Amino acid sequence: MTSVSTPIRTSAPPLQKETTVGNYFVSNYPPYSFWKPEFANEIFEAIEQSPRPGNPLGIYVHIPFCRKRCHFCYFKVYTDKDSAAIRGYLEGVLRELTIYARKPFVAGRRPNFVYFGGGTPSYLSVDQLRHLTDGMKALLPWDEAEEVTFECEPGTLTDHKLKAIRELGVTRLSLGVENFDDHILEINGRAHHSKEIARAYAFAREVGFPQINIDLIAGMVEETEENWRECVRKTIEMSPDSVTIYEMEIPFNTTIYQRMKAEGKLVAPVADWEVKRGWVKVAFGELEKAGYKVGSAYTAVKDPSRTRFIYRDRLWEGADLLSAGVASFGYINGTHYQNQHDFDPYITRINQGELPIWRALTPSEDERLIRESILQLKLGHVSRAYFKKKFGIELTERFGEAIQRLKDWGFLSVEGDQILLSRDGLLQVDRLLHEFFLPEHRNARYA
Ligand code: SF4
Repeated sequence: MTSVSTPIRTSAPPLQKETTVGNYFVSNYPPYSFWKPEFANEIFEAIEQSPRPGNPLGIYVHIPFCRKRCHFCYFKVYTDKDSAAIRGYLEGVLRELTIYARKPFVAGRRPNFVYFGGGTPSYLSVDQLRHLTDGMKALLPWDEAEEVTFECEPGTLTDHKLKAIRELGVTRLSLGVENFDDHILEINGRAHHSKEIARAYAFAREVGFPQINIDLIAGMVEETEENWRECVRKTIEMSPDSVTIYEMEIPFNTTIYQRMKAEGKLVAPVADWEVKRGWVKVAFGELEKAGYKVGSAYTAVKDPSRTRFIYRDRLWEGADLLSAGVASFGYINGTHYQNQHDFDPYITRINQGELPIWRALTPSEDERLIRESILQLKLGHVSRAYFKKKFGIELTERFGEAIQRLKDWGFLSVEGDQILLSRDGLLQVDRLLHEFFLPEHRNARYA
């Protein structure tokens, strides 16, 4: 295997300053724009194959309902569905899982991890949740799952609902706090208010979830340094098991971008990238002073010996992800797929007894190697021995030029088995990962 040949630059690519439209966050590889409807049949072949020995299986269920659409949201969400439509949707998800559960790729495997994402899974009523999860457990029992994550919007949680969520087997509750200031929450279109955060968190602690994560976003519209520091202070005061911090990006399908377009603006009304990175640095610094450990470019955990994030770690090691629901993204036996991205076509296809696949891609062995390498680099450290054993490849040879560039820029070092990112490298890892992309993926649209 030869390394990718590209001209050597002597200084780091210029920091993009303003926040303009487009994706910053690298969540997968190859870029989504390379997944195609004409490759959809590849997933039908993949599910008929036996799994790679020892590869864990996860389940992701997308719940696409929210009380309001946040102005920065780029997910597929619906705010206008009544209970009959929601019921129909949940039946669709169960039908989809029923088809998959009989396929050879499951091969008796029990899910190792389960993730309810959205949208807002906590938008569902207790009855709807029980109906969904009873059906799922009958098809793919979770009793051996190491982790069951459930995303919540604080304003949808009651004492009663939280108890029910815990009883379903949820081990990791992820609270979408984003900010603690009511004005900032309001002008960014969030449905919840600060009072609901405190109430939901106190209930969740009482109920006794093994892990509670708080999500924050650095750089929401009208965020200031003073307010950000206050958000970090309040987060530390609450003492969650883990904290996840995203930097505000403005993809094309957001309300903020629609407004920018209408007003002829190229720059989003949010802090620039350098400022946002600085705010994440401040947050990590304060969290470290409070005893947290930085575990990736986006997370800090209070006690790494008992707080893990199995979903992330398994996916970044190439686990299978059986993904159900509208627009959801999965990965089975080396093939990526995404479901129909609109509600009605999704429901129609599943009601016809078909898997509602929209597009797919089967990456080459080299692309799989790149995918795992770049995703694991987001942890700040990558083991060369892991890749040697799994792919038979020495990373320092395969990515010799990219590694040298990041070294020259002061963001990376190689120490024995470990390829390590500096803190500054970690804070801007998403833009640095493009150095590891194949040339044809480097300047292509990501999503
Ligand atoms: S709660 Fe989350 S999924 Fe729902 S609109 Fe807001 S950002 Fe999007």
